[in-house]
Amino acid sequence: MLLAMDVGGTNIRYHLVDTIHNKTILSETKNTSTTPLIPLIEELISQYSIKKIAIAYAGQVNSGTILSSPNIQVDEPNIADYFAKNFNIPLAIENDLKSAALAEYEYWGCSGTMVVASIGTGFGAAIVEDGKLLRGSHNLAGEIGHIPFRYSEIPCGCGNHYCIEASASGKALERWIEYYSLPTSNSPLTTLKEANNPQADTILQNFHDGLIYAIATTISLLNPDIIVLGGGVIHKNRYLLEMIESQIDRYALPASTKETKILLSELKDAPLRGSLLLH
Ligand SMILES: [Zn+2]
Repeated sequence: MLLAMDVGGTNIRYHLVDTIHNKTILSETKNTSTTPLIPLIEELISQYSIKKIAIAYAGQVNSGTILSSPNIQVDEPNIADYFAKNFNIPLAIENDLKSAALAEYEYWGCSGTMVVASIGTGFGAAIVEDGKLLRGSHNLAGEIGHIPFRYSEIPCGCGNHYCIEASASGKALERWIEYYSLPTSNSPLTTLKEANNPQADTILQNFHDGLIYAIATTISLLNPDIIVLGGGVIHKNRYLLEMIESQIDRYALPASTKETKILLSELKDAPLRGSLLLH
């Protein structure tokens, strides 16, 4: 039995998969804030014959160790070691976006280079080449949100003032709307469009430019076959895809953009699907 988990800031979703008959026998969701991760896994181990654990995790991880987790309480960062020593069960853990990228790569049938960029609360990317994740020295490759961009009075979550994420992310939009006390509408981008004032126009312009610059930088740097865009902000504002497609040539090396397909993610459970592909 394989325990596949998607551990996010809000929910922990998990599947128990009978790998011999290729059947999911249990599919559940728990609230992250009220369900500590390690006791939950231990309880499942006591109930089922679990032979392997695979986790897509909303934080930075490296070689079985959790490096950071902004919204999740972690009592044991060396989680792979912990389950190997105490239960003799192998555990693979990967950042959720990197895990999702593996699922996207398989879903789109890519055989070359793919970049998966997620624009939700934050702005991140994961790169898969020839079926393998590009990791960098500490598994931190793809931190697209921290590419330098324009100076932002409100700093990025990392503390710097020039990160793209401080201009182009769901969290940035919310912070700027609060900063200028703009009357809120049903979504941050609608709020800015309806505000009809110069500050709102600047925030919106920085958001759009940041998005295009980041994708253009990625294309010039990696010359990917496919870029898949996902995350809540993109899915709720599909005009962003057309905007990026129509303007990308102005910012990226034209020869690089020619063959690059820019697609909208179609997978609803990419991190969980990707966790099944972790080794
Ligand atoms: Zn940053």
